Amino acid sequence: MGTRPYILAECNWKVIKDAEFELAVLPWGATEAHNYHLPYATDIYEADYIAAAAAKIAWEKGAKPIVLPTIPFGVNTGQSDIYLDINLNPSTQLTILNDIIETLNRQGIYKLLIFNSHGGNNFKPLVRELGLKYPDMFICFSNWFHAMNRSDYFENEGDHAEEMETSLMLYLKPELVLPKDKWGTGKSKRFKIRAFTEGWVWAERKWSEISEDTGVGNPELATAAKGKKFFEDISLKIGNLIYDLCKADCKDLYE
Ligand SMILES: [Zn+2]
Repeated sequence: MGTRPYILAECNWKVIKDAEFELAVLPWGATEAHNYHLPYATDIYEADYIAAAAAKIAWEKGAKPIVLPTIPFGVNTGQSDIYLDINLNPSTQLTILNDIIETLNRQGIYKLLIFNSHGGNNFKPLVRELGLKYPDMFICFSNWFHAMNRSDYFENEGDHAEEMETSLMLYLKPELVLPKDKWGTGKSKRFKIRAFTEGWVWAERKWSEISEDTGVGNPELATAAKGKKFFEDISLKIGNLIYDLCKADCKDLYE
């Protein structure tokens, strides 16, 4: 395939020393159990593949994004008793982001898209704090898993190792997905207090008490074909976002 000029991990100094980029894209994943059947790096693979496909679309339209290597660990504070779910505290994320943004700011790449692949990562307070500290930077984040209307693609709901994630992995990394007879049902428990289910009160769920197989959402109707369709559509949507961010004038953002 050769070097993709918008993927920093594949680029060399020969290419980079004369390049100029308009936007840095920082994919951010997690390392955690995904039901019985999906790999621990599911969120990382999803971030890698969608960010790369989206950046390609923007690049081919004439934009200059650069995708940084995916951060492999995320916030897993609710899964401390699930073996080898690796937790990165929000305060650690703030430190990592600060150091990356300091580099970009110093070197004149003033736009950053944090491309989030994990529900436990919450970038809003971090972006607020870092935006105040680096006023020349335009920092935004996208939770790609909220970008599409899922019910247009998938029949069963859920938010972890469910039909959507299983379909994506069947398309992107089928060799890492266990055979269907090994899939858990992704059955999960809700809070007894109704206000939590209604969404206006929040507390962290203790994952090992709400799901036996670690999944939330039944994957049984997942197929590679559904994954392919979803992947292509979301890559196009994120690709257009990356293009728009590259071309945006940060002094003229509002209408
Ligand atoms: Zn996931």
